[in-house]
Amino acid sequence: MPEDVVFVTEKMLLRAGFVLAWEEGLKVIPDGEITVEDGIVSYLGPRTGRSQEGFERVIEKENSLVMPGLVNAHTHAAMTLFRGYADDMPLQEWLNDKIWPLEAKLDKKDIYWGTLLAICEMIRGGTTCFADMYFHMEEVAEACSKSGIRASLAWGLIGLDMIKGMAGLKESKSLTRNWHNADRGRITVMLGPHAPYTCPPKYLRKVIDLAAELDVPMHIHLAETAVEVQECRAEHGKTPVELMNDLGLFDYKVLAAHCVHLSPTEIEILATKGAAVAHNPGSNLKLGSGIAPLWELLQKGALVSLGTDGAASNNNLDMIEELRLSALLPKGINCDPTALPAEDALKMATINGFQSLFLEKGLGSLQAGTAADLVMINLKKPHYFPLHNPLSHIVYSAAAADVEMVMVGGRVLFENGELKTIDEEKVFFEVRQRSVRLLD
Ligand SMILES: [Zn+2]
Repeated sequence: MPEDVVFVTEKMLLRAGFVLAWEEGLKVIPDGEITVEDGIVSYLGPRTGRSQEGFERVIEKENSLVMPGLVNAHTHAAMTLFRGYADDMPLQEWLNDKIWPLEAKLDKKDIYWGTLLAICEMIRGGTTCFADMYFHMEEVAEACSKSGIRASLAWGLIGLDMIKGMAGLKESKSLTRNWHNADRGRITVMLGPHAPYTCPPKYLRKVIDLAAELDVPMHIHLAETAVEVQECRAEHGKTPVELMNDLGLFDYKVLAAHCVHLSPTEIEILATKGAAVAHNPGSNLKLGSGIAPLWELLQKGALVSLGTDGAASNNNLDMIEELRLSALLPKGINCDPTALPAEDALKMATINGFQSLFLEKGLGSLQAGTAADLVMINLKKPHYFPLHNPLSHIVYSAAAADVEMVMVGGRVLFENGELKTIDEEKVFFEVRQRSVRLLD
């Protein structure tokens, strides 16, 4: 295992105009205060009269709001390299003709720099944690480790060719051995069976057995397009969700991305089996895949989080945009403005994200005793005035550019417009060079 990157954290005192945190429901604390020691929240509540003495860093901003970090529960970080390369195409054609041929040209260092670019964008937009599925994942882990972001990483497994499929399992094993729970648990590993249409049942059983053996969750694309469901029915006589259920996938910890085309029975299966669903409204809209039955999933009690998917199909990694889309789409589809209130949307983007990645309990709640993964939003902008309701503003009015400070595990990763752990100019340079070579 690489030497743990244990960042030095400071004893901090934060005071802000508002603090949002989770405790049973959402807690909105005006004039709030947070103290952080050894990377852990030691106090969160109304402002106290405590002295600033003894704190290594004090941030006091009456025009700001502190809230839990956003979790991007489904992405392919290094696909930032293909941002804008192929737009306005259906998923299968887009994958077969554009993305997969280009991916075949990627080397390890491309993945490293593409991932770092994604991390720059995510941190700047208030994302403190993400779930990634791609390949050369040791490079991805290295990028996460250096940047200080929290991540759960899966080597994308494709089992259409059993020899390649088995090689992927070997890579996953080594990734787990080297990186699972690395950097004080900041980096974790999942197995990443890509999708039912790229992982035949025989191969999926091997993936499930390995997940059980390694005791790690699985991250899979599921029921993303109508074509996927049709083809699965034609080949197996059942839908992707039914097939996965029969194979026993949901008897283990599973993060299922997309889940766009679901019958009421399938919604019931996902909810009762406790599968975590990552909803990716931006990518689903852009690829014309459809709109997931989010409201129905939530009403059945399913655990739903939000993701951007890769930057080649979104085309950004802006979780605030996904947050807003997730709150608006159910209202429009159901012709019901009460469908998916702001609080439910924020929950999906924050605490549900941590739960969907099967990380330690309480993470993302910002309660005392949990890791200090938080973001500070600058409220002194026209679109926050008047400040009737800070929760409403975050969901319906905020922009990624309003994020002014980001902290993961008590370490400040972004402040005053500057990334603290990444040389952004170097990232831009590397990505520019590499994108030219890839498209050559
Ligand atoms: Zn995806």
